[in-house]
Amino acid sequence: MTNLSFKKINIEAYEPGKSSIKNLGKVIKLSANESALGVSLKAKKAISKKNTNFFRYPDGKSNNLRHQLSKKFKCDKDKIICGAGSDEVIQMLCQLFLKPNDEVIVPQYSFLMYRIYAKIVGAKVIFSKEANYKISISEILKKVTKKTKMVFLANPNNPTGTYLNKIELKQLRNKLRRNILLVVDDAYFEYMKNSDYKSGLDLFKKKENVFILRTFSKIYGLASLRVGWGYGSRKIIDALNLIKPPFNVNEVAQLAATESLKDTKFIFKSVKHNLVYASKIKKFLNQYNIFSNEISANFLLLDFSKCKFKAENFYKKLKEKGIILRSTEYGYKIKNRLRLTIGSRNDNLKFMSVVKSIFNK
Ligand SMILES: *Cc1c(COP(=O)(O)O)cnc(C)c1O
Repeated sequence: MTNLSFKKINIEAYEPGKSSIKNLGKVIKLSANESALGVSLKAKKAISKKNTNFFRYPDGKSNNLRHQLSKKFKCDKDKIICGAGSDEVIQMLCQLFLKPNDEVIVPQYSFLMYRIYAKIVGAKVIFSKEANYKISISEILKKVTKKTKMVFLANPNNPTGTYLNKIELKQLRNKLRRNILLVVDDAYFEYMKNSDYKSGLDLFKKKENVFILRTFSKIYGLASLRVGWGYGSRKIIDALNLIKPPFNVNEVAQLAATESLKDTKFIFKSVKHNLVYASKIKKFLNQYNIFSNEISANFLLLDFSKCKFKAENFYKKLKEKGIILRSTEYGYKIKNRLRLTIGSRNDNLKFMSVVKSIFNK
């Protein structure tokens, strides 16, 4: 036998929110925080009109998209890098910053990709405790050592739905050693209407030691096309461009993303839809002693500790009826909770009627 050797990496593979059920055709997928209203009409139109010059390589610098982003968010085009999903930007950041045995701090229940990419490059992932499923600044600071290189957090966080307000976030940056890079993932910022909230980009646009992540996978409804972006100092962006795969964002994705940025009506509608249904569903579930976080992004983390059903049991009952939620036991290691994405009107109504039937049995 040939003994080919390769690195042994101690990680759990990322398991996406499930999208199908055995022996069931049509399902209602409320497991991946995808857009409730689908793709913006503007983006759809632009894609369908596109010449199919697919034999040409795309613009490796995503120039039009970066231009549109800088206009819309009043920031510097040269401090933007685009990726095949923000996933790829996380991966590149880890490759650029981390050597084996460097330490990365991630909050206990944070988005899984931070720990996965950090471990792949050999860094040590240090988990900071959370307080009642919310990121704790003091717990993060407790974990800082000489070896700490980066701190990752999503605000609001997936899957807990909690967030640090603008004062807390600034406090964290101020108290963290200056040569530690703070990465703030703004994946859900568009949904946030709470007055004490500010996006990472708005707070830290000018900071050299903060890096911002953004995505087109959530409110813009382009998850399948894989587009995201990062915002950081010129120095970091120039270095990232050296390691970036040359044609990482395909042409259709660049175009769809550029056009969807211009569709402000669609964004407005999506935010409103989310607020209306998130509060409707939250109240509805309270009647059955299923409680959840204060409304923030396009999902709720459902707590079953006071409910007559265990989360796992409830998950199965919904699944039998063709509705898929996200279990948080695997990967996130959050017990007795389920993450529910706010879906389309029809999906939400179906979800509520199925829940009703489960409890009235
Ligand atoms: C969904 C999500 C993303 C998006 O990842 P993409 O690779 O851009 O699809 C990033 N961060 C968080 C916290 C998320 O929940």
